[in-house]
Amino acid sequence: MRRMQIKTKVTLWYSIFMVALMILMFLILIYFSESLLMSGQKTQLSEVVEDQIEDLMEEDEEEEFHFYEEGVYFLLYSSNGEYERGQIPKGFDEKLPLQEGIVQKQEGTSYYYYDRFLINENGKEIWLRGVSSNVGMQSYNLILLNTFFIIIPILVVISCIVGYGITKRAFLPIRRIQETAEKIIASKELSTRIALPEGKDEISKLGQTFDHMLDILEQNFAKEKQFTSDASHELRTPITVIMTESEFALKHADTMEEMKESMEVVKRQADKMSGLLQHLLFLARADAGTQKIQPVLVNVTELTKEMANELVSCARKRNMTITFTQKEQEDVWMMLDQMLYMRAVENLIQNAISYGKESDDIHVEIQREDGGMVVSVTDHGIGISKENLPKIWDRFFQVDEARSKENGSMGLGLSMVKWIVESHGGEIMVESKEQEGSKFSLRFPKR
Ligand code: ADP
Repeated sequence: MRRMQIKTKVTLWYSIFMVALMILMFLILIYFSESLLMSGQKTQLSEVVEDQIEDLMEEDEEEEFHFYEEGVYFLLYSSNGEYERGQIPKGFDEKLPLQEGIVQKQEGTSYYYYDRFLINENGKEIWLRGVSSNVGMQSYNLILLNTFFIIIPILVVISCIVGYGITKRAFLPIRRIQETAEKIIASKELSTRIALPEGKDEISKLGQTFDHMLDILEQNFAKEKQFTSDASHELRTPITVIMTESEFALKHADTMEEMKESMEVVKRQADKMSGLLQHLLFLARADAGTQKIQPVLVNVTELTKEMANELVSCARKRNMTITFTQKEQEDVWMMLDQMLYMRAVENLIQNAISYGKESDDIHVEIQREDGGMVVSVTDHGIGISKENLPKIWDRFFQVDEARSKENGSMGLGLSMVKWIVESHGGEIMVESKEQEGSKFSLRFPKR
């Protein structure tokens, strides 16, 4: 049974159920029709006998009396129960004791009999017995049995065939799901879809869920591929520079000065690689769930001010200023991972410096909100177009690659910031207009 296909199992089960149901129906039918027919026959017997009584009441009529009428045999007995005359059906025992007004059955035969005691017009006492056979009922039962053994098997076979067809049709979508999965395994290609016709039944929903799962898997694999190729691309550039520069230094650097210059280039590229590897390591740990956050009670006001001050010299290179504001007088204290918070805010300020306009004022602000806080960094620089806005969280995405490369950026900062704030249960928000500027806000909820 376990090895059978589900459709065979379903057909088998309901065929067994159908046969059982039909047998039950047949038995019920026989039982009720038998008792119905029997009571019908008994009533008919007593009625025919009662009709004949009137004829017998007159003495003359007794001579012309018909001993077989409407399927009933009549027998006459004397007042002391002695059989006198009549028509005895074959196999009927005429000596059976007389009993007034009750329909009885002769055991072992199909005969019913009904007795009546009467006194005719001349005062003569007579017993009248009517006998009828239930042969009709036996033939009725025979017809029923024939029906059962001929029609029922035909019905069962038809229902099995039709049922198997219906079940097979109902299981077609499952077959399609299985075929799609096999195709994906064979081709290692996630673009195949089951694409069942729209429907609200369970199997259609299963197909839609399966397709949706494939969409997500395909997207994630594509992202993963893109990430690996972007990471190798980012690493290849500094490695190439390091190799050519060191080759040049070995072959052509004659003076100490030239050697130093080459070493500086090598160092810059090695720093770049180290930075990239640090970022990659962070993201890999974040993905694997091994990058833990260690919240401690932090004076966020103090810490953010320090961060802004540290980056002032950096901003000055582009003639920029950084201002810090906070409405509330008292310092804001929060449970945060200090290192990660610093990394997130530093990234936002660095971006504001890189993508803000010359002589701009970068505004860093802290606001309390529902027991938590929001820290925002605003610049008035190049801004981000609506079209690019959803992509800035993607790893290695840069609106203007050339400009970003100039700053040594790699397009990993925002995805890191997003992870940091989300791992604190918060969210990152951005409002930006092209050529007008951007405002990045990090909302940290109460912990
Ligand atoms: P990057 O290291 O290149 O700055 P990020 O992940 O921090 O990478 O940012 C992704 C991209 O989002 C940047 O390359 C830049 O195009 C855009 N971006 C980020 N911050 C700003 C900003 N303040 N103003 C304009 N564009 C920005």
